[in-house]
Amino acid sequence: MKFRLEKDITLFQKKLQHWYANHQRDLPWRCNPTLYKTVVSEFMLQQTQVDTVLPYFHRWILNFPDFDSIARAKEEVIVKNWEGLGYYSRARNLHRVARILTSNEKIPSRAKEWEQYPGIGPYTAAAISSISFHYPAAVLDGNVIRILTRLTADATLFKDNNFAIRKLTPLANKLLDVLNPGTHNQAMMELGATVCMRSKPRCSVCPVNSFCSAGKRGDRDQFPRFTAKPTQRLKINRVWIQRNGALLLHKASSKAKRLADFYELPSAEGFVKNPMRKDRLVIKKRGISNQYIEERIYRVKSNAKITQLVRSSPDLHWIPASKMDAIILSGPHRRWINEIIAD
Ligand code: SF4
Repeated sequence: MKFRLEKDITLFQKKLQHWYANHQRDLPWRCNPTLYKTVVSEFMLQQTQVDTVLPYFHRWILNFPDFDSIARAKEEVIVKNWEGLGYYSRARNLHRVARILTSNEKIPSRAKEWEQYPGIGPYTAAAISSISFHYPAAVLDGNVIRILTRLTADATLFKDNNFAIRKLTPLANKLLDVLNPGTHNQAMMELGATVCMRSKPRCSVCPVNSFCSAGKRGDRDQFPRFTAKPTQRLKINRVWIQRNGALLLHKASSKAKRLADFYELPSAEGFVKNPMRKDRLVIKKRGISNQYIEERIYRVKSNAKITQLVRSSPDLHWIPASKMDAIILSGPHRRWINEIIAD
């Protein structure tokens, strides 16, 4: 389907927005929307599903009702409140954004201005500026890439999302309803999340199915096309060492790229050369992007050598059970520790 005629585009926008008005999910950031709710929700929704975000969003708004309350808080308090949601650089960036906004006299309204803020890329900038300021910038992420490539049956083999975004930006801009950019963008996001899903898209109830080439041909599952990335397999051995009711944990440096200041179970390196199967407590498997990670946790008895090692390593700490809730643990490690203790 080529969107060459103005009347086709207008009809597309009308059908999409009419559907959105009647079928949008009841989400807390859409009820009495404010710039604050939009910014927080867009940060939380980066790489994360709506269902996962919902409880965090409710709790966040209670603890931090506005930008001022975030700006006043210490960074560790902000990160602690984000615990379990993952991708913690988002929490630190949201903190920085709140501090900049509360010290600025003027709140930006254009997408390019929002892109200057920490942690805000073109997608988030387009979402914030269009929803809160009616600024005409089209959102383009994985969901929208899927919709656009299916609408046009675009069989390009993309190297990654960035390549797809570069190719599809002109089409996304052409389809954007510049008079109602916020509604249009939210409708596109909603369509990708609830109708034009990755698997089993619901074409029979899709409001724009009359425009959709792949939907008509029945090969919508073939789009979008990406070159397959090889899966990386990683194995990590970790240790479970207790002493006087305290558990040994490793704290990442505050300058670490990932998980700065977070506690995790220490890696086995330095504690045990060849961990024995009989000492294995659990094996945990998880996938992150194209990585498949297997983590094995081994029980190791505390001894004088370990006590000495901990004394001379500023990043190793004995954490008593009573303090476990107060520290910032990565989501999977908190879960595993609770499971092992419960066992
Ligand atoms: Fe997606 Fe199907 Fe709608 Fe096409 S018709 S946009 S494939 S849900």
